[in-house]
Amino acid sequence: MTLDTIAVVGASLAGLRGVETLRRSGYAGRIIWIGAEPHLPYDRPPLSKELLRGSWEPERIALRKDGVAALEADLRLGVRAVALDVGERRVSLDDGTLVAYDGLLIATGALPRTLPGAPKLEGIHLLRSLDDALALRRAFAAGARVCVVGAGFIGAEVAASARSLGLDVTLVEPLEAPCVRGLGVRLGGLLAEVHRDHGVDLRLGTGVDAIEGERRVERVRLSDGTALAADVVVVGIGVAPATDWLRGSGLELDNGVVCDASCLAAPGVVAAGDVARWTNPLFGRQMRVEHWSNAVEQGVHAARRLLAGDAEAQPFAPVPSFWSDQYDCRIQSAGAAGPDDELRIVAGSLEGRRFVALLGSGGRLTGALAWNRARDLIPYRKLLARGASWDEALAASRS
Ligand code: FAD
Repeated sequence: MTLDTIAVVGASLAGLRGVETLRRSGYAGRIIWIGAEPHLPYDRPPLSKELLRGSWEPERIALRKDGVAALEADLRLGVRAVALDVGERRVSLDDGTLVAYDGLLIATGALPRTLPGAPKLEGIHLLRSLDDALALRRAFAAGARVCVVGAGFIGAEVAASARSLGLDVTLVEPLEAPCVRGLGVRLGGLLAEVHRDHGVDLRLGTGVDAIEGERRVERVRLSDGTALAADVVVVGIGVAPATDWLRGSGLELDNGVVCDASCLAAPGVVAAGDVARWTNPLFGRQMRVEHWSNAVEQGVHAARRLLAGDAEAQPFAPVPSFWSDQYDCRIQSAGAAGPDDELRIVAGSLEGRRFVALLGSGGRLTGALAWNRARDLIPYRKLLARGASWDEALAASRS
């Protein structure tokens, strides 16, 4: 089928990399590019770090400093896709228009989860968008007592940024350590020490029963019975893939848009970034990755897949990776290790807070993590890419 028109839904990281790839690959047809936010594509990682602390302004996080005009796309910002008909190859938008396409790239990312039963009070914040970050920054400027609910990476980064602004911070987490899903209990325990050293009141193994106040938030009631006075509550309890608009579309939805190994969700439809769940042949299982570098790589891959057609389809087989900056710690991780995988420190030490850890399971290297030693991760990334064994990785660490 000739691709006269390609629709791209989601004008952020994966969508942008997709549009750029289409043009770079010589695609000269029409691109209709739809984005729910009013902003040109921007980078999200600084939203919980430099932008929140006020050391960067919004201009600095634009993903293309010279704008998007050169991409010659029909860009429709502030417009939301509300439905998809895969059979008819049509996307409905919330401004009442219908977009007919020959090829479609879905890159709608993810949306933060809200606390079930939480009241609508001023002072309760989520953090996903630039507007969210600017609202939170204004709240921090008032010198607030901050309660962060959820110590995943975003919650932990927000707590670190708030502390560096001198605010009183309580970080509440039902699990036994911060970032436990990404770091496991041992390294999560080290991160707990780092937060405590910086003056965060860390409440582990504790949930939130209620958020209370009249018009504004006044206190958070914890599952251990404590009532915590707070002016600002940041809810960081994870995200869900933005697939609501795809219900009834004919696509398979299961914690994301389900794709094959090449990122194809249906004939003429690909997905990329936080919204996509695909089978990664390198690890032999389905995954959905909520990290920056995956959105970049998958945006590129999915666009190429759309242009390639079935005969030349290539699998998307990356080594997932992420980083997180908290205080003076830069944590970088590669692979797809589970929180219970075996962990071995192969360089540096936990006490020195500068080390490389390897993770393994079933005789295979499943991940590598560098804490303030970014460069030392490179060789292990290569080993992960070729499915190296645990013994091979340990031998490499000794050489
Ligand atoms: P998104 O960036 O979420 O973009 C999706 C876009 O689609 C959004 O603009 C959304 O409004 C739009 N959209 C949604 N639904 C519709 C619709 N129906 N119609 C039209 N448009 C729609 N990763 C790291 O590896 N390291 C970090 O340090 C890090 N820090 C982060 C800090 C924060 C605060 C956040 C929020 C994320 C962070 N990430 C980090 C994760 C990383 O930013 C994401 O993985 C990445 O942004 C995913 O890109 P995406 O294009 O798939 O989705």
